[in-house]
Amino acid sequence: MFKRENTRQFNIGNVKIGGSAPVSVQSMTNTKTADINATVNQIERLTEAGCEIVRVTVPDMQSAEALKEIKRRIKIPLVADIHFDYRLALESIKNGVDKIRLNPGNIGDAERVKAVVKAAKERNIPIRIGVNSGSVERELLEKYDGPTPGAVVESAERHIKILQDNGFENIVVSLKMSDVVNTIEAYRLFSEKWDIPLHVGVTESGTVKTGSIKSAVGIGSVLSQGIGNTIRVSLTGDPVEEVIVARQILKSLKLMPVGVNIVSCPTCGRTNVDLPSLAEKIEKALSTCEKNITVAVMGCAVNGPGEAREADYGVACGKGDGLLFKKGKTVKKVKENEIVRELLLMIDND
Ligand code: SF4
Repeated sequence: MFKRENTRQFNIGNVKIGGSAPVSVQSMTNTKTADINATVNQIERLTEAGCEIVRVTVPDMQSAEALKEIKRRIKIPLVADIHFDYRLALESIKNGVDKIRLNPGNIGDAERVKAVVKAAKERNIPIRIGVNSGSVERELLEKYDGPTPGAVVESAERHIKILQDNGFENIVVSLKMSDVVNTIEAYRLFSEKWDIPLHVGVTESGTVKTGSIKSAVGIGSVLSQGIGNTIRVSLTGDPVEEVIVARQILKSLKLMPVGVNIVSCPTCGRTNVDLPSLAEKIEKALSTCEKNITVAVMGCAVNGPGEAREADYGVACGKGDGLLFKKGKTVKKVKENEIVRELLLMIDND
């Protein structure tokens, strides 16, 4: 079976991608890139949530010019998303981006491709070829009878060949489809043939709720086969949600070296506190905690203590109160409205 470690490795800014590097989390801003303050603010929020690489759209020269200042003000690698206009790619590279996303088959004649490749080589930055079901060339749609996984893979291969013919190998590929099953198949097909690092995602996956589920199934299935080096969850909503979901996918598969695992019960007739709100508050407060811990948030004094004792930290709630646990031992009983604060304090001080 394909193993992600078998891919080539290179840097996107200070983040390693491919080979034995951890799977990294990406997101994309939804501000107007030319609005530097709004874009930097959003990138700061994304960074705080755990985003490791950020992509911004570059639809015009004003946006490409804004990249210089954006790059100066942010801490994580910056990727410029370019469609069609090679001049935007050149300006973005000049302004210090760490990677560009561009399909070389879409930017026109060979001289333009050469110019972009030359600039990317000089700065030693990778190019991501981003193919999706909507970008497949007409001949391939006819050959495969639609945007099938095979069509998407062959489309990516066309773009790869253009870069390789220009002596460029610093390539990342994504093969995003809105259909989850096809997405999984496309990544599998591609990884059987290539050692190119893969950026994994399900495109246009939907609103926060639906999209998170589709992404968890799609990205999770691909990653669990040993495929994929960096991921982006696409959601219609605040991109910070994308990062939270992406990190959760990685944690679930034990692909994230640090993090908090929250265990909470589904609640039942025995629950006498507002457990969903407690669990959510605790999860949110610990979303950027870098300790490797399991925290149990349990709804009753019958089955709760067992799980809370098993975890590193836990609470088993009673009637309007909760019993706190640390490393298997009872610590103290606190009122319902003190549970979150006391549990967090206990974790912080440990
Ligand atoms: S831990 Fe208690 S409250 Fe939660 S589901 Fe189990 S029995 Fe119900």
